[in-house]
Amino acid sequence: MSNHRFKALEIAQNRRAVPVAPPAERVSDFFGIYTFNKETMRALLSPEAYIRITEAIDTGGKIDREIADEVANAMKAWATSKGATHYTHWFQPLTGETAEKHDAFFDITVEGKAIEKFKGSALVQQEPDASSFPNGGLRNTFEARGYTGWDPSSPAFLMDNGAGGKTLCIPSVFISYTGEALDYKTPLLKALNALDKAATGVGQFFDRNISKVTATLGPEQEYFLVDKALFYARPDLVMAGRTVFGHSPARGQQLEDHYFGSIPPRVNAFMVDFEFEAMKLGIPVRTRHNEVAPGQFEVAPTFEEVNLSIDHNALLMDLMEKVAERHDFKVLFHEKPFAGINGSGKHNNWSMSTNTGVNLLGPSSKPKETLRFITYLVNVIKAVHDNADLLRASIASAGNEHRLGANEAPPAIVSIFLGETLTKALEDLETKSEISLQKGDNVYYKLGINRIPSLLRDNTDRNRTSPFAFTGNKFEFRAAGSSANSSSTMIVLNTIVADQLNKFRVDLSARLDNGEKKELAIVDILKQYYADSKRILFEGNGYSDEWVAEAARRGLSNIASTPDALAVYLKPESLMLFERMGVMNHSEVESRYEIELEKYIKKVQIESRVMGDLAMNHVISTALKYQNNLAQTAKALLDIGLEEEAAPIKELIREISKYVSAIKTHAEAMIEARKEANNLADTTERAKMYATKVKDFFDVIRYDVDKLELIIDDEDWPLVKYRELLFVK
Ligand code: ADP
Ligand code: MG
Repeated sequence: MSNHRFKALEIAQNRRAVPVAPPAERVSDFFGIYTFNKETMRALLSPEAYIRITEAIDTGGKIDREIADEVANAMKAWATSKGATHYTHWFQPLTGETAEKHDAFFDITVEGKAIEKFKGSALVQQEPDASSFPNGGLRNTFEARGYTGWDPSSPAFLMDNGAGGKTLCIPSVFISYTGEALDYKTPLLKALNALDKAATGVGQFFDRNISKVTATLGPEQEYFLVDKALFYARPDLVMAGRTVFGHSPARGQQLEDHYFGSIPPRVNAFMVDFEFEAMKLGIPVRTRHNEVAPGQFEVAPTFEEVNLSIDHNALLMDLMEKVAERHDFKVLFHEKPFAGINGSGKHNNWSMSTNTGVNLLGPSSKPKETLRFITYLVNVIKAVHDNADLLRASIASAGNEHRLGANEAPPAIVSIFLGETLTKALEDLETKSEISLQKGDNVYYKLGINRIPSLLRDNTDRNRTSPFAFTGNKFEFRAAGSSANSSSTMIVLNTIVADQLNKFRVDLSARLDNGEKKELAIVDILKQYYADSKRILFEGNGYSDEWVAEAARRGLSNIASTPDALAVYLKPESLMLFERMGVMNHSEVESRYEIELEKYIKKVQIESRVMGDLAMNHVISTALKYQNNLAQTAKALLDIGLEEEAAPIKELIREISKYVSAIKTHAEAMIEARKEANNLADTTERAKMYATKVKDFFDVIRYDVDKLELIIDDEDWPLVKYRELLFVK
């Protein structure tokens, strides 16, 4: 029992839950204590500065130099009083991780005196040495300067910097010297602004008091936990974030009986710990104490404005990784760490709410409000229908590719689930014949609208297999990957809905100019939109083969590979859409496409290398050793004349040889395919080659390795097995 696997197992088995004490008795005593929020600002800023900055936060207005200086001063005083020694602009480059570059508050004057300084200029803008971040060709090295700029709409916060002190983190955008976005946040803010304008414009037809619409997001984050020692005993987890080998127990098999049930104490301690830390940072977490798959868990915050929610999600992911260290866990955010077991997603719960406090996707019992609800609902459906491929592109990544379209995962086909009641309501709306208004008629009654609301409350028929589901008062985009920055999805979703709402406004205005009655004109337009887009509605089992066939009959796209999905960004209609909506210009979209492709290639390349390495240096060598043992046993049996008894052993030896030689052949062919791919100068071609010729070997090699795992003596097998990885006490 000398192998690495057993040492790791022994360590993991001896762990105990790490005790966690609450920071204070009541949550309200510590919620948000590490954020420079409105409350803190009100206390520390002059009334004038406070008004100006809240205005800037609420309406996106500019902040002048003097106010910035005052805010910087207040921030510094607040941060240093809480133990901060450094500050940083905190941003989200296109690598997918968060980035920071710490500067000390501390400075030396010309007289050699130590002072603490933080000016408005440093708050507003920074120039990180960020030439190593991906830019997709946007910045040439000779002008390798980008800068980060403060986003006042997301509060600054304090993070432990690991060395005892804290760092003041200032949420920021990251743009190139020539003004192009190099991050997720910049186009996101623009998309949210576009949505605000478009949705407000439409809202005005219903209520003149609607002057602002805020998109809201509640991301449910799924993840796996693995013991740290076991994690490090799996080079594939360390290098690629997922297991490239491992015989998976058949679906619904003993794992479920064994490991489902209450949360193990160590996991519980971890959850409680990161919840406390998150709440200190003002992240409104509500952990779900339920397991989805063995070893898999979920955390969901209460929804917030999209930009803030995404910052919080990114921060939460960082935090979970840090806190996990204290509990000797590793958090796996990968979309598909284990074959044969549920993957992880990040369900993007999304809606729109008005300054008047109305959730625009929330059904109402009043006919007039119902028409408004149906208007936004149908426009979202049409937007998703018309731009389904772009939504698919927004969730494309190497990790999610293992999940989408795979057996036990949402399909790569974008479809919408509405529920029976709502579908019927829209069907009724469509099939209603012309309505001639007569004096005294209740227009809503005639339109059938006043019959809808009472039925709407029944939304029990929730469908868990739909990638885009209406769940009572919001849409839930479930196909997004667990490791993704939700911005990709939110940029696309908010842009396409904004664009659609603009079109609706134009259509409606034209009819009103023609003297048509408003309610009738609206219903007429919605009927048409619904008829045009209803083929995207699907109520059945999205994971079934029948749906794949049915979707094809309906002419819906089913884009399986990441390079193909990403290519949608470059279509002229996509480029024009982003430009028209003021979200991204052509070169910004093109550079994003390049970066995503590069990321994809790199990930598949790493997986392929890890696979080759494990196959040759761990699996085959173990198989040969075991084979040698078998040969000795067979020989011994033959020596004493037990030929019949030696026969099955000889059979086993042959079987092992068969697998070993297949693995070797395929691993070598995979290396050749990689070489061939690497020689391609064009990124698109290279990515496609990785997606097909290289990746095609993954399942083939895995099949044989997993067979060997079943044959070879458990004592000799070098890789921590699934049942061990997924078992946490
Ligand atoms: P589920 O059945 O999917 O678990 P929940 O009601 O628990 O549904 O909500 C899941 C997520 O949806 C939570 O993060 C919640 O805050 C979020 N959510 C609820 N209402 C909205 C909304 N109007 N806009 C965005 N997200 C919302
Ligand atoms: Mg959900």
